[in-house]
Amino acid sequence: AIQFDNLEKSFGSLPVLQGISGYVDAGEVLSIIGSSGCGKSTLLRCLNRLETVDRGKIVISDLEISKPQLSSRELKEVRSRIGMVFQQFNLFPHLSVLENLTLAPQQVLKISRSESKERAKYYLQEVGLADKAEMYPEQLSGGQRQRVAIARSLCMEPQIMLFDEPTSALDPELVGEVLAVMRRLAEEGMTMVVVTHEIQFARDVANRVMFLDQGRVVEEGLAREVLTNPNSDRLHTFLSRMR
Ligand code: ATP
Ligand code: MG
Repeated sequence: AIQFDNLEKSFGSLPVLQGISGYVDAGEVLSIIGSSGCGKSTLLRCLNRLETVDRGKIVISDLEISKPQLSSRELKEVRSRIGMVFQQFNLFPHLSVLENLTLAPQQVLKISRSESKERAKYYLQEVGLADKAEMYPEQLSGGQRQRVAIARSLCMEPQIMLFDEPTSALDPELVGEVLAVMRRLAEEGMTMVVVTHEIQFARDVANRVMFLDQGRVVEEGLAREVLTNPNSDRLHTFLSRMR
């Protein structure tokens, strides 16, 4: 589970997060929506400590990750508890799919070669790519690459997965296969935070949704309710533009 309270973050004089609070319970999917520049990626990056907050508190399970200083052991703990999938897949082009998947488990988790290979094959199967282990990223479609990126995160066996617009760089016909993998992960009980423009997906798969505008939470609640009957004019307008 993740709990975050009153997060504030500025880049220079630009306030980007202006007192954001929320939580994700274990096994739950939280979707974050909002227009470009409202702070969605910054929030995710703070939850993963790729960025530090100026003020506020973030607790993941029992670990407070928002302290100004984390020990290297704590930082490693954060990295292994939380997986992140980005819009750009960031696979290593000179490594095969299998090598992309075994690298971090071997180097960071110190898992043996053979065990990391077994793990990689298991998660490749999970994302429907069991037959692509020996391919190189450039030989795969965008949707396949993104599924490899998801499998690569899963190989670290994280407690929480963060997704930052994982389908927005994909051709429309490839979006469905990636969303299907994410839906399955959610059904299997993975704790997930998903920044997405796929409102249909958010309505169907997310338990709760959070709508941000200019670094503040404007509306928050059960995804089905909030996305079907928004309370605020701003969310109403946002949703009508998405259709
Ligand atoms: P999008 O939907 O376009 O991805 P977003 O909601 O993810 O937008 P962020 O990427 O969180 O928005 O950016 C929020 C604001 O912070 C933007 O105005 C952006 O220009 C600014 N910003 C983000 N990262 C940095 C940075 N490293 N340095 C300076 N400004 C930044
Ligand atoms: Mg973003």
